[in-house]
Amino acid sequence: MLLKADNVLESEIISLLEEGELCPVCRSMEKSVDGWIVGAFSNLLHNEGARMELRRNGLCTVHLKRIVEVAKERSEVGSLAVSIMFKEILAAQVSWLDEKDVGFLSRKKPKSGSCVLCSVASNSERIYLSAFVKFLQRDEVQRSYENSRSVFCVNHSRYIIKNMRNSCGQWLAGTQRNKYEDLTAEMENYISKHDYRNTTPVGQERHAWLNASKLIGERDAKNS
Ligand SMILES: [Zn+2]
Ligand SMILES: [Zn+2]
Repeated sequence: MLLKADNVLESEIISLLEEGELCPVCRSMEKSVDGWIVGAFSNLLHNEGARMELRRNGLCTVHLKRIVEVAKERSEVGSLAVSIMFKEILAAQVSWLDEKDVGFLSRKKPKSGSCVLCSVASNSERIYLSAFVKFLQRDEVQRSYENSRSVFCVNHSRYIIKNMRNSCGQWLAGTQRNKYEDLTAEMENYISKHDYRNTTPVGQERHAWLNASKLIGERDAKNS
């Protein structure tokens, strides 16, 4: 079914559903984080704002890892810009070793989720969660979600169900139950293939545990 978008956000939501990559809200967060990394690092020397934010708050381990992955995958980011930035962050972090700057020792460690990319992710999460709460009230959007391979993760479905109007919330709870049951069945299928008496070859269900890993993570989210 072709959905009609009334604005840019809706058309982005439609393409997230069509991509069918598990949780569309998580996917929107990943997209904005990657977008920020590419934007900042492909033009780092002229992007003093990004450099300052990175130096000031440092990076959490999750986003540090993502920057490394993006630098390896995309030539416009590359290891040069990342080296320059990491050198600056390291210098800022170890300045307390120089006895003149003992302030660092007494300074509170940044709270988890306070790196610049955590804010980028949580901003996108907030926008998309409230857009889905609204957009999923429409019948044709509900049908489209039911038929797509997209599955909201447990965290995000909890938020959306809580914030939807009653009957829509019930619809989403039922739909989530069906989607999670399908995934459970796939994992059971995969597990049963490890019994030596079962000689059927392993198929698509080999990916089920990886899909589950993207849906069951508990996060200390700002928007929950
Ligand atoms: Zn999610
Ligand atoms: Zn972070």
